Amino acid sequence: MTAFSALKQAVDFTKVAIGLRDDVKLNEAKAVLTERLVEISHAAFELHYANNTLLQEKRAAEDLVEELRAELRKIEEFQADMTRYEPHHTRLGGFCFRDKAQGGAADPAIYLCANCMNRHKKTYLQLQDGGQSLHCSEGHGSIPGVIPPSNPKPFIEVTAPTV
Ligand SMILES: [Zn+2]
Repeated sequence: MTAFSALKQAVDFTKVAIGLRDDVKLNEAKAVLTERLVEISHAAFELHYANNTLLQEKRAAEDLVEELRAELRKIEEFQADMTRYEPHHTRLGGFCFRDKAQGGAADPAIYLCANCMNRHKKTYLQLQDGGQSLHCSEGHGSIPGVIPPSNPKPFIEVTAPTV
């Protein structure tokens, strides 16, 4: 029996007691009525508490959805931006991504770190040593670049000593 139906029953009992004008039954009805009102107050408090909890959970869920939408937008923007680049092996054998628009053109191409791309991060590789290497500023080191050394080290032939 719910608290409300118990209260209704107590009210009906009180009406009967009033109709009979019986003081004993009226006092009994008054006690039952008071007890039922306390139960109703408790039930209302619990309902209010549960409602507040649900509202807080709803707000947290809405925040999470907004956070995930923002994350998804970032991923979509990154993917759209990455369509402008293609996998590329540099002239000296390094692996990176190069912009499609400038690849092979007279202007220097833009190179991106393949390791950073794998982590959904766009990092421009910087030419070093006159283009002999491309450097990632995010800690992935350098890869062989695009311009061979102008003054290559001479090849030294080592021969076994003759006995
Ligand atoms: Zn990197």
